[in-house]
Amino acid sequence: MVERQLHRRGIHDERVLAAMNEIPREEFVPEEDRHTAYRDDPIQIGWGQTISQPYMTALMAQELELTGGERVLEVGAGSGYAAAVLGALAEHVVTVEIVPELAEMARENLRRAGRDRNVEVVSGDGSQGYAPGAPYDAISVAAGAPDIPPALVNQLRDGGRLVIPVGSWTDQELQVIVRHGKRLDSRVATGCRFVPLRGGEGWQ
Ligand code: SAH
Repeated sequence: MVERQLHRRGIHDERVLAAMNEIPREEFVPEEDRHTAYRDDPIQIGWGQTISQPYMTALMAQELELTGGERVLEVGAGSGYAAAVLGALAEHVVTVEIVPELAEMARENLRRAGRDRNVEVVSGDGSQGYAPGAPYDAISVAAGAPDIPPALVNQLRDGGRLVIPVGSWTDQELQVIVRHGKRLDSRVATGCRFVPLRGGEGWQ
């Protein structure tokens, strides 16, 4: 997976490659799908949701440019896999999940994989961020929205980075945003297709 799906496609951050190599992705997919855990695709995890394609998880982590000391917010814990990857790259991760059963599953998966030391799963609507943990050095949003939720920008530290799929149900781009005071620098990393962000100003 790491060589063919990630490195060859431009994932060059050694820490990201090492984390993806080290974290047992099979612990984050339903038991009957374990044989598909390292495929180049998203996988259904129940409640209409998916664990993202490994490349997307790696790209989002790389775009956050983590060096080890950061506090990170993830919106959309799903299986907990991306949170485990972020946890290997940063100091602390808070991941918010709107489906309570998935929040519980993410907690369980992280515990089983031995990745729960610095990863906290919160049950709730992450389109509002998670104020008690703010400000964050980096925010990763694992679900697509028509616009960037203002609460997320407000909870981003000055100089902090946000990755988020922005667009419609079928046509999204992964935006990388860097906050400079009130100004936001943004660029597009790639086209993508994520499940919709619920709550807030999302698609409902
Ligand atoms: N990072 C996950 C991918 C999960 S897919 C992984 O590695 O497995 C996106 C997740 O976002 C879904 O679990 C969905 O329930 C969740 N979600 C959607 N809208 C949300 C919101 N407003 N707040 C928190 N989670 C949300």
